[in-house]
This record gives sequence, C-alpha cells and structure tokens, in this order.
Amino acid sequence: MSENLESVIKTICEGLGNDATRMMDIVREVQETFGSVNDDAMDLIAAQVQTPRVEVESVVSFYAFLTKKQNGSVVIRLCDDIIDRMFGFERIKQSFTEALGIEVGETTEDGRFTLETTPCIGMCDQAPAVMVNEEIFTEVSRDTVHDIVEQLKEGVAPERIRRRLGDGNNSSPLVGAAVANNIRKEGEVIFAPLECGRALKKALAMSPNEVIRDIKTARLRGRGGAGFPAGMKWDFTRAAKGEKKFVICNADEGEPGTFKDRVILTERPELLIEGMAIAGYAIGAQEGIIYLRGEYAYLRPFLEDMLQKARNTGMLGEKVFGNEKYSFDIRIQMGAGAYVCGEETALISSCEGLRGDPKNRPPFPAQKGYLGHPTSVNNVETFCCVARILDQGAGWFSQIGSKGSTGTKLLSISGDCRRPGVYEVPFGITMNEVLEMAGGAGATAVQVGGPSGSLIGPEDFTRTICYDDLATGGALMIFGPNRNVLEIAEYFMDFFIDESCGYCTPCRVGNVLLKERLQKIMEGKGEPADLQYLEDLGKVVKSTSRCGLGQTSPNPVLTTLKNFRSAYDALVKEDQPFQPTFDIQKALGDAKRIAGRPSMHFAE
Ligand code: SF4
Repeated sequence: MSENLESVIKTICEGLGNDATRMMDIVREVQETFGSVNDDAMDLIAAQVQTPRVEVESVVSFYAFLTKKQNGSVVIRLCDDIIDRMFGFERIKQSFTEALGIEVGETTEDGRFTLETTPCIGMCDQAPAVMVNEEIFTEVSRDTVHDIVEQLKEGVAPERIRRRLGDGNNSSPLVGAAVANNIRKEGEVIFAPLECGRALKKALAMSPNEVIRDIKTARLRGRGGAGFPAGMKWDFTRAAKGEKKFVICNADEGEPGTFKDRVILTERPELLIEGMAIAGYAIGAQEGIIYLRGEYAYLRPFLEDMLQKARNTGMLGEKVFGNEKYSFDIRIQMGAGAYVCGEETALISSCEGLRGDPKNRPPFPAQKGYLGHPTSVNNVETFCCVARILDQGAGWFSQIGSKGSTGTKLLSISGDCRRPGVYEVPFGITMNEVLEMAGGAGATAVQVGGPSGSLIGPEDFTRTICYDDLATGGALMIFGPNRNVLEIAEYFMDFFIDESCGYCTPCRVGNVLLKERLQKIMEGKGEPADLQYLEDLGKVVKSTSRCGLGQTSPNPVLTTLKNFRSAYDALVKEDQPFQPTFDIQKALGDAKRIAGRPSMHFAE
C-alpha cells in the first residue's frame, strides 16, 4: 500500500468530514485522482470514515462511472442510446477502436486510454456524442475521432482539445463545452426573461402555507413524468414531524431521449435556485441538494458559481434576503452513472452515500427521506415553474395549458426530424403539431416519455401532450419509416436489463425473459402464443416490481404489441414447429466452462 495513496485518501476523507454519508463524493474524488478505487483504497476509506469495508465496495460496484479495475487516465465513453445508434454510433465506435487499437471495455497497454460505452449522456439532439473524461464532444464524425485521439496522444488535456464552443452559457469560461442548447421555442414560463430574486421576495412576504396554497391554486404537477401535484407533496413534507427537513432537486435526467434539464441548468440555473429556496421556505427546510447526474459534471463549476452568486446577493445563506427566520443553502451531489437514481428513493440513497437502491414505500420521502428526515424531491423544471408562479401569480399560470395540466412543458425532441432540440410548449398541444414544429412530418412512430413511456403510431398523433392523455417527462424520439419498431423495443429492453438494480426477481429476470422472447419473434421463430406470453409476463413485471424502473420496463414490449401489432403478426407463424426458448446445450456450455469439466448427464 503506497504512502501516497494513504495520505491522499486521508486528506479526501477529512475534507468531507470523515462522513460516511458523503461516500459518493469520497469515492468519486479517489477515482478522479487514481483512475480507480482499488482494494487498498477501499480498505483505507473504510478505516478512515469508520464504516464496514463492504459498504464502500457496494457503492463502488454499483455505479457505472466507478471501478475497482485500473482505468486509463483518459476514459472515453461512447454514447450508445438508440438515437446515437441511428446517427453513427457504430461508425464512431469503429473509428475509436482503430485509432486506439483497443476494443470497448479495454485499456491501452500503456495505461493511458480506456474505451467504454454508456447509455445516453443527454445529447440526443446532437448525436453521435462522446464523453472524454468530463468533456463532451457532439456530432462526432470519423475526422473528429482522429483529431481527438491524435491530440490526446500528444498529451493535450481533453478540455483543451481544439473545438468550437456551444451557444449561450456553454461558451462561458466555467462551462466551455461544445454542447448546443438548441432552444427552438421559448415559452412564457421557463425561458421568459427573468428578474432574479423577485419571486423569492414575494414568497418571503407570505406565510409558508400561503406559498403552498399558491402552488396548489396553480395546479402545478411534477415535471419529472409522474405528475404528482407539487403543492400536495410540499404539504405532506411540511406537516411531517422532523427536526430537519430537506429539499432535493432531481437533476439526474437519465431517461434516454431527454435533455431539457441540461438546457435549464445551463440557461436558467437562477430560476432553479430561486424555486428551491421558495420550496425550502414553504416546507421549513434549511438545506437543499441538487443531485446532478455524472454525465453533466462539466456543468458543475458553473453551477457552483451560480450558487455562490446567489449567496452573494442574499438569495442563499444565513437570513435569506434579511429574513430573520429563514436560512437556506444548497449543495451539489454528483451522481456516477446509474439510471435508477432518477427514482426518488434511489436518489436519496445515493445522496446518503449508499448504492442507488430504491427503498420500500411507505414511508414516503415526505415523511422519512434523506437521512430519515422529511424530504421533498422535485424535478428541475418543477422548481423553475414554482419561481415563475410566485412571480407572476397562480391565476396567470393556471390559464396556460389544458384543464388538467396547467403551464408549459419542455420537450426534448430528437430522432428523425429536421429541428431536434428543446421546445417549450403549452400542455394540450397535439402530437401532429409537435411533429410539424420539429420538422418530423412522415414519422411512423414516436417514443413518448423515453423507454419507460409509450411508442405510438400515426393513429395516435392527434392525441395531446398532457397528464390525462400522452403524459411525458419530456423525451420525444421520432422514428421515420425506415426504422424497425421491434429493434427499438429490443434496444430499450437491453437498456432496462443493464440498469435494473437487481433487487426484485420480476425486474431482474422478467426483463431478460421478455427480451429473449422478443428476439425469438424477431428471428422468425415466433408463434401466436408468444405474443400472449409477452403480454402476460409484461403485466406481471409491471405489477410486481418494487420501483418505477420495473413498473415501466415492459412498456417497450407492451406498447409496441398494442400499437404496432402488425409488425409482430408479420413475423409469427401459426404452424411454427416447436421452438424451444431455452437452449440447453448453450446453458450446459456455460456450466461446463465454469465447472471446468464436461457434463456427466447430457451428451454433446
Ligand atoms: S424494480 Fe428493478 S430497479 Fe426497481 S428495485 Fe426492483 S430490481 Fe431494482
């Protein structure tokens, strides 16, 4: 064990108060410094923060961006979501493997470069995209790959590689990213001009209950997708017993196809901070946490600066805007590449320095959340709406949108369309209008709400985007006539299999079985009974899984079965000879390999 490792880990842990609940920050910092969190590092961390060693290892093994295995000093992560696959993922992968001389999952012999794939880094409107350490490269071509690798080999740091900068705050020195905002339509709630602090001052002139009443009058529903009334959530949190309360902003945005929170974080962070401060006042919290997904680490210095600016103007810190009774501050908690952390109880686990395992409910976070204290978890866009409601009035807000869904909605649109990007539209807009706006006429399918949502066909394009019809957290992926809907469903099932935390059997096993049966059909070996099997098993997984991931993971299969039945019917045959779905020889092969000897019972 090297003395350097020992002293650096001691410094890192001490810097975080030797606090085991800050484990995510500790292991992230160790990994950034040494390229891995190896066995020795885990022993040292456990001893330093006085926690069982298994607790450290359970965190390191859970998150995709953390590893025991030594990574190169430069980790290149290729985004392989469905949109990137449509726009050149394979080509880019091949270019990187050729230029580096390694395959995905490998590190170069000199230990400098590691090549990996990663599901959706939130850049679907500018695919194909790649993360090099924390730097983002978008619309990557073969030429850019060669340029990137050449410069990296010459020792140029990823953040210094010559490239254009993106628009808006992406080009500010603290972001310096090649990311484009692609804001195509600015509405009156999120992207309207802002007078910073006015909403919070108005809130502080009211009682907390009056603030909550305004949010209820505005009929604001959570923008993350589930649409739970925000005022009601705050009421529960305010009413819950607890000496401390917390506000958490879910900036984990892991649903493939969504990237609108990334644009808000870049262009409207003040609105978000103000909304969180209002929430803190309303529920009686003094601390807030922004849980920022690991893929957006490039925004962290900028967001830290925005938080500091808010402290300087009195919007955060002791006695907010001089109010003797209200102090509130916000810290950023980084994630490390785990989709399930978008689920609020998993996100809380992660903030507590644990694996991102979802928790049983009840108790709900409003009663017993972060470190056992009443906690309100809201989405980035929801907090922005809160600030605007306080500023412009609940009546003003409730006039926008449709009857059951007030306000505007940010849509992240990508795929087969001429104008991918972020659109702020009033609720109640039809899918046909959206397609027209985004240049997606001729679409044959639209994935509404990311993989956990629904794949709909043209007969549903007259439907409206709102909580009572096509509910969505914001991701819309457009597919043209040349796309195969079954391949889309298969890809999404793969995604869920990878991202399941594995706690419950229906989710861990059921999704694999769904995918295998889907593949059987895609290979032309399906029979009509397989369709019934998919439906039945899909319903079982949905109804018996513990958290939102498993409760929605069969949707790619179930919604394609419902809306694209003809694609399945064309592949299944009535008179199909018996096709076993279990390949016993293959399973035996695996068993023989593990056991290191041939089967005693089954001949080859
Ligand atoms: S449903 Fe899936 S992701 Fe959620 S707790 Fe169960 S195994 Fe984990």
